Amino acid sequence: MSETIFSLIINREIPANILYEDDLSLVFSDINAQAPVHFLVIPKKPIPKLSDATEDDQALLGHLLLVANKVAAEQGLTDFRLNVNNGAGASQTVFHLHIHVLGGRPFSWPPG
Ligand code: C5P
Repeated sequence: MSETIFSLIINREIPANILYEDDLSLVFSDINAQAPVHFLVIPKKPIPKLSDATEDDQALLGHLLLVANKVAAEQGLTDFRLNVNNGAGASQTVFHLHIHVLGGRPFSWPPG
């Protein structure tokens, strides 16, 4: 599996503002926040992108959503947006699956 900058964050080889961690996941603030609250929920397993996930990852993917909920609540968010960019054409730049969680401002629809 691929090594990315997120592997370095998991291994504490580069710093990040870590908000939550468990055996399966890590949550940290996005360094280029697009909202007053913007954090990333990542699996410790280095799945490059969502479309690389398999049936074996079913429980892990569900876990990531529940972790997103938990940290959003801890951050005081009731309304928030989850975003997963899948592939370069969808603006994915780091090829380690991550869920963006954004809150603290209004969001329009459709997204850009
Ligand atoms: O979905 P995408 O791959 O474009 O998002 C990657 C995100 O990772 C960006 O929002 C970027 O700001 C964030 N990032 C970070 N810390 C790093 C490198 C990237 O929060 N060290």
